[in-house]
This record gives sequence, C-alpha cells and structure tokens, in this order.
Amino acid sequence: MHCDCDYHTHPQGHAVRPYTVELLQPWIDRCRERGIKSIAFTDHDRYREGVDFDVIARLREINSDVEILAGIELDNDPVTGKSGLKWVETHRDRLDFVLGSVHYLRDASRMFDGADQSGQLQSLGFERAYEEYRSQLEALIGRGQIDCLSHLDLIKIHGLVPDTYDPAKFFGPILEQIAGAGLAMEINTAGWRKPVGEQYPTEPILRSALALRIPITISSDAHSYAQVAEDYGKLDSLLERIGLEKPTRYWQHQRQ
Ligand SMILES: [Zn+2]
Ligand SMILES: [Zn+2]
Repeated sequence: MHCDCDYHTHPQGHAVRPYTVELLQPWIDRCRERGIKSIAFTDHDRYREGVDFDVIARLREINSDVEILAGIELDNDPVTGKSGLKWVETHRDRLDFVLGSVHYLRDASRMFDGADQSGQLQSLGFERAYEEYRSQLEALIGRGQIDCLSHLDLIKIHGLVPDTYDPAKFFGPILEQIAGAGLAMEINTAGWRKPVGEQYPTEPILRSALALRIPITISSDAHSYAQVAEDYGKLDSLLERIGLEKPTRYWQHQRQ
C-alpha cells in the first residue's frame, strides 16, 4: 500500500482546543488502525494558540512507530492571515510542514467553502469567482513560507463551475508557479465528502502537475480522528491510474 501518510489533519476542528496528549493520541491510534506511518497535524493558523510543540514532542516519545509532523494550514484570512504568516516565520524551526490555502475571495468576510456559502459564487458569477480564486492563489504562493498547496481546486466545492471551464488549462499558470517555487501540492480526499463528489484536485490537473514533476502529498483533511486516511481505498486506485508511485513525505520542510 502506497498510501501510508496523511498530511492534512485538524485535531482542533474549528475551534481553539489546546493540544494535549489526550487530544492527539486517538489520532495516532487511528493511524495504526489504518496503516498510516506518517501524519502531519495541520490545524488552521487562526487556531495556532492551541498548537503546542512540547506536546507534539511528548507524543513522539510515546509513539515512536508513527512519524508525527508539526504543521499548520496557513490561509488568506483577511483578519488573521498576516499574523498567521508572522507566526509561521517565528516558529519555522519547530514546524515540519506548512500548507498554503485560499479560503477567502477578495473582500469576503466568510470562507467560500462553508456549506451555506455557494451564494458567494453565485452573486459574483462563476467566471469571476474562479478568476478571483486563482489570483488569491497566486498571491498566496508569492508571499512564501509554505511547503505545499492544499486542495488546489477547492473553488469547485459546491459543484458549480463556469461553462467553459477547462481545469488543467485554467490552473496551468498556477502549476507553473508551484513548480518554479519548488513547492509540492496535495491530493485531498475531502472533496469526496462534499457536493462536488470528487477529490481535490481533479485528475487532469494532477496529470499536468506530474508532467511538471511537482511533488504530490496525500491527505484526508480530517476534522475528527475517525476521518484519518478517509477514502484511501479510492485514493489507491486514483494513484494507480495517474501513475503516481510514491506520495511525497516531508520532515523539517525538506522532501524525504
Ligand atoms: Zn483548507
Ligand atoms: Zn484543512
């Protein structure tokens, strides 16, 4: 089985729930049950107060058979984005892995990927919403401090796309930018649990990424320990189809 890592997980869910061994241990137990050898905790940077590197160090001591990466999902939140970036800079040495995500369209106060937020795309018009999303991605990559892009085509989450949308072509310039910056991107199984019913990103984007030799990580985007490695059965056959033999692993920001 190639799918033995999970590099996008949210132990705190959507709140500040300070790290303790009790909070994190069930995630490691789940890794063992599901054959995961390497996991990255990547809570949203807006909940960074809850991240405790000493607790992660303790967890590593008592679980030497599972590799545990200290990570964060850094996004373009108009309120916390800047301070989040500063926090990542400050704690870079203790972090192993930084995901970069766009959850906000310009001037929006709510994340567009909320279950009740398809109206944001509708009111902008799909074409403009997609263009806006892409330019936010461009800015996110440009500001630096990330190792890997999350859910690259998240904007499709509600199953709404512009009429003439060609995913590989539309994201082509972003893929070039990712390759040029030496970053990785992930396959994220959470899309299978959303209205769009497809992993992020879609297969044509993945094939273009592989042609550009962009390293690929795999992840569930679990918001509960029960979801660690969720849908990895389907992921296995996807990797086989696109010819990806080994998902990339990281340690201290370095590809392994
Ligand atoms: Zn995200
Ligand atoms: Zn996430």
